[in-house]
Amino acid sequence: MEKQQGRRRSSGGVGGHLVLVPCPLQGHMNPMLHLATLLHSKGFSITIVHTQFKSPNPSKYPPDINFESISDGISEGEESNLVSLILKINRNCEDPFRDCLLRIQSDREKDPILGIIHDVGLYFASTIADEMKLPRFAFRTNSVTFFVGYLLTMQKGCCHPIKGEELEEPVTELPFLRMKDLPEVKSSDLHIQVIRMADTTRTATGVIWNSLKQLEENALHLIEHELNSVPVFLVGPLHKYSSIEETDRSCITWLDTQTPNSVIYISFGSLVNISRSELVEMAWGLANSKQHFLWVVRPGSVQSSKWVEELIPKEFEELTSERGQIVKWVPQQEVLAHPAIGGFWTHSGWNSTLESLTEGVPMLCSPHFGDQRINARLVSCVWKVGIEIANNERGLIEKSIRRIMVDKEGMEMKERAMDLKGKIQLSLNKAGSSNVSSEKLTNFIRNGYIE
Ligand code: UDP
Repeated sequence: MEKQQGRRRSSGGVGGHLVLVPCPLQGHMNPMLHLATLLHSKGFSITIVHTQFKSPNPSKYPPDINFESISDGISEGEESNLVSLILKINRNCEDPFRDCLLRIQSDREKDPILGIIHDVGLYFASTIADEMKLPRFAFRTNSVTFFVGYLLTMQKGCCHPIKGEELEEPVTELPFLRMKDLPEVKSSDLHIQVIRMADTTRTATGVIWNSLKQLEENALHLIEHELNSVPVFLVGPLHKYSSIEETDRSCITWLDTQTPNSVIYISFGSLVNISRSELVEMAWGLANSKQHFLWVVRPGSVQSSKWVEELIPKEFEELTSERGQIVKWVPQQEVLAHPAIGGFWTHSGWNSTLESLTEGVPMLCSPHFGDQRINARLVSCVWKVGIEIANNERGLIEKSIRRIMVDKEGMEMKERAMDLKGKIQLSLNKAGSSNVSSEKLTNFIRNGYIE
C-alpha cells in the first residue's frame, strides 16, 4: 500500500466538511465550482468562501452547497490589472477569512472542517489554514506544464524579458517550448505572487490540478522532485462533473441548422482584449476563408466604446450574414460539443483548451498572455491537434482557418483530436486515471493517507 501522510487525520466518517476558496475570475471560479460539485457528490459538505467582488450565483449549484462571502475592499473595474487585483485580495482577505472560519467552526461544531481547498493564487487562505492547523490543498486551474514553466523562468533568472536569438532557443527541460514561451515575470508584484504560489504549492497537504495524466507526462515527470512527497491529484477535466447553466441558447438553435464539422467557433475567453484593427483583420480573414462561423465578441473586449456592428465594415456583414453569427456570449461547452463545430479559434486559455480537447475539436491558437503561449505549444507541438497563428493579419488568418477546416492537414488534426477525446473519456471511467485520482483525493482528505 502506497502511504502518504497528511498533516492531520480526520475524524473519518462518511461526510466531512470542506471549505473551498475560489479566485474571482471566470477561468478560475468555474473549475473550483465544478470541483465543489464533484466533492459534494463524494459525500462532503461544502462551504464556498468567496470574495464580495464577482461573487458566484448560488442558485446555479446544489442547494446544500453553502456560500459565505468575505469583504475584500475591491471595487468593480479593478480587474483591469490582474496582478494588483490578486495582490490586493491577498492583503485584504486574511482577517475576514479567519473570522469566517471561526464563525463556521462555532456554528457547525458537529461537522468539523477537514480541510481548506484554495485557489493557489489566494495564498492568504494558506496562511490562515496553517495558523488554525487545518490541512490545506492548493488548487491549480492551469496546466502542470505552466507551473514548470514558471519554475524554469525563476531558475533561469529570466524575470525580465530575454532578447534576441535566445528567444527562439528550445528550453532544455521541455524542448517543445522556446525560451520566449516561458512566462515572463515583469513586475516585482508578480514576482512576489509567483514565489508565494510556488511556496504554497510545495508546502501544501496536497495539490489538486484541473488536468489529466495523459496530457502532461513530460511536466509531471519534472515536478516529482520539485514537489517531493506532496501528493498530486489530477482530477480534470472538471467541467465534465457539472454544468453551469447559461440562459441564452439561441446560437445552439442556429448551429442545429448547420452541417456537421462546417462551423468554426471563435472566442478569446473572459479576459483578452483586442484592438479595433485586430478585430477588422479577424473579420476579413474570416470572410475571405469562406467558412461558416460563430464568433463571440465579449462586450468591452474591443478597445473602443462602440459595439462591434459599428466597428466592422458593412461589406463584411453583407458577405457573411448567410453563414456567420456574431454574439456576446455562448454556452461554450455545449457549443464545442455540437456536431456542427469543426474547429475552435481560441486564445488558448486552459479551460477553453481542455473543453476543446474533451470534445475532439481541433484548435487555431492566438495566445495573448499568461499560460496561453504554453497551452498553444502543447496544442500544436505535443498533441498536434492544432496550429498557432503568428500574427493577426487577414491573409494569414484566412489561410490558417482553411488549414484547420478544409485541408488534409486539418482532417489529420481532427483524427488526433478524436483519439485524445477518447482517452479523456476513458480517464473519467471507473478505472480511469482522473476518476481514480478523485477517489484517492477523497480518501486522503478523510483518512490522511493514500491507499
Ligand atoms: N466561456 C463561455 N462562453 C463564452 C466564452 C467563454 O462559457 O462565450 C467560458 C469557457 O467555457 C471557459 C471560460 O469561459 O470555461 C474561459 O476560461 P479560459 O481559461 O479558457 O480563459 P480565460 O477567460 O480565463 O482567459
